[in-house]
Amino acid sequence: MADDGNGPASAMKADLETITSLAKQRGFVFPSAEIYGGFAATYDYGPLGVEMRRNIRESWWQWMVQGRDDVVGIEGAIITNPDVWRASGHVDAFTDPLVDCLQCNARVRADHIVDGVCPSCGTKDRFTEERDFNLLLRTSVGPVADEGAIAYLRPETAQGMFVNFENVLNSTRRRLPFGIAQIGKSFRNEITTQQFIFRTREFEQMEMEFFCHPENALDWFAYWREERMRWYQSIGVRAEHLRFRDHDEDERSHYSSATTDIEVHYPWGWSELEGVAYRGNYDLTVHQEHSGKSLSYFDQQAEEHIIPHVVEPAVGVDRVMLTLLMDAYDEDEVAGEKRVVMRFAPNIAPVAVGVLPLSRNDKLLPTARRVHDVLRPHFRTWYDDAQSIGRRYRRQDEIGTPLCVTVDFETIDDDAVTIRDRDTTEQIRVPISGLVEALRGRLHELQPAVDDPAPIPERS
Ligand code: ATP
Repeated sequence: MADDGNGPASAMKADLETITSLAKQRGFVFPSAEIYGGFAATYDYGPLGVEMRRNIRESWWQWMVQGRDDVVGIEGAIITNPDVWRASGHVDAFTDPLVDCLQCNARVRADHIVDGVCPSCGTKDRFTEERDFNLLLRTSVGPVADEGAIAYLRPETAQGMFVNFENVLNSTRRRLPFGIAQIGKSFRNEITTQQFIFRTREFEQMEMEFFCHPENALDWFAYWREERMRWYQSIGVRAEHLRFRDHDEDERSHYSSATTDIEVHYPWGWSELEGVAYRGNYDLTVHQEHSGKSLSYFDQQAEEHIIPHVVEPAVGVDRVMLTLLMDAYDEDEVAGEKRVVMRFAPNIAPVAVGVLPLSRNDKLLPTARRVHDVLRPHFRTWYDDAQSIGRRYRRQDEIGTPLCVTVDFETIDDDAVTIRDRDTTEQIRVPISGLVEALRGRLHELQPAVDDPAPIPERS
């Protein structure tokens, strides 16, 4: 977690406090159950937050599943047979090293301590011995809460793909290589939970397990590393805020021969946004052993049964959202006044087009409503007629709306409106009859350019 000293101070323009406060004021993220004093490391998403999360999920799903012919999706249960977590090793070994500060009794993740300083009280080098703390969140299922009823809230979505490997294979008649993807909530009893929605106990993951032959698994690993970076380009994260970091051998799980993190330069230093891991055939092998069911694949070319190898890109929706909020934040000056502007890409912005009558004048409102009705089926729109037009532009800038349509008194005569661009604040006049096309074209132009894809590894 700590900055490893590589690279300059964060290029992000906002600190965490600024983003947390903007997110609450504008309706992106609220502390959960705030009227009861909140709940540690738990957040609720507001009206703009949910729109943004839907955009993140939809973009990921389009990129990873619907836009390809070699990946399919599933939705597994959050609470499933606890044997899954015994087999995967989570029950015994899903632990973080925990220490207590002897000064203030704060519980801290040992690997998150920088220079021996307690992050809670600042005391140096006064901690208990390290012990393992299991991160699984337990619950009980059924009317009798005895040992036999213990179940777990899933700590990752990945195991859902492994335990359904055979079902997907048989129901879709897939051949290797192919992937299974899933988006869904996961739960971990995290020890350290500062930094807003970066690390929470309930979070949402977007994971894909790509099953392939062992001979070209490393080629697929290289391919998915690039492909995942391209997705971040496609949702507008600036290149200078991102980097790859390959794990050293001693950092990797014993079964992984290659893991790369895609890291972000947050205000507190470079930290993991996404992990891309080559997991060998570890997961299918342990599930085969524990379940007693064959999870092998018959390779027709080689005429032999193999256990496929797996490459896994895994990321959290919440962490992508935090990254986008931080990355998009900008301040500039318009007509001598400071403004805050969120420079979201059009496919991520909660609102794509704001519809603003110049004033609340009765002559304008019916036309403004009509324009809104024309646009609503095509774009994520927001109609706003409260306060002065200048303040409404500022509000749309602050929530990252790329384009605003203004209905003024001339509209009544010429049936034309003004499109105002968030980034340049330039305005152009467009007839209402061509408005949908004009907006679509402009939003398309504003979408960030993306590098060409890496070549697909040769299929064996
Ligand atoms: P860390 O070492 O930071 O605890 P991890 O390496 O255990 O994370 P993974 O198990 O690889 O994380 O999870 C995949 C992705 O899921 C992470 O890259 C992150 O985007 C997201 N994620 C994991 N834990 C959390 C959490 N507690 N809150 C929010 N997102 C999370």
